[in-house]
Amino acid sequence: MTTRKPSISEVKKPQKTMTIGSSVTKNYDCEVCESVVKAEDKGIECEICKGWFHTGCVDLTDNEYEMLASHKLGTIHWYCTTCNVISVELLRLVFGLQENLSKKVTRPKRLISALHGQP
Ligand SMILES: [Zn+2]
Ligand SMILES: [Zn+2]
Repeated sequence: MTTRKPSISEVKKPQKTMTIGSSVTKNYDCEVCESVVKAEDKGIECEICKGWFHTGCVDLTDNEYEMLASHKLGTIHWYCTTCNVISVELLRLVFGLQENLSKKVTRPKRLISALHGQP
């Protein structure tokens, strides 16, 4: 009795050609005008959504840009309008929540300790 093992090496897998990312260049599209933010352009990255913007598209003055660019050693804290609105809304929500909680006589202790427990 002979058992023949089929040789796996003969089975050819169709080679997957990676078409995605074939033309990956370090170009970022401006989130406002949807054209590429070139190296020679004055562009800025939003810290939250990591989107790129022309300074001209976000009403950033040359002075402001220079100021932000000079801080490049550390981190640039700049948020696009969308993220700005979101963060403001979030803050408002958080503050509103806290206000609500402090106003209530019967407050869920567990929730409050959880809130304050967070660094
Ligand atoms: Zn733009
Ligand atoms: Zn953003």
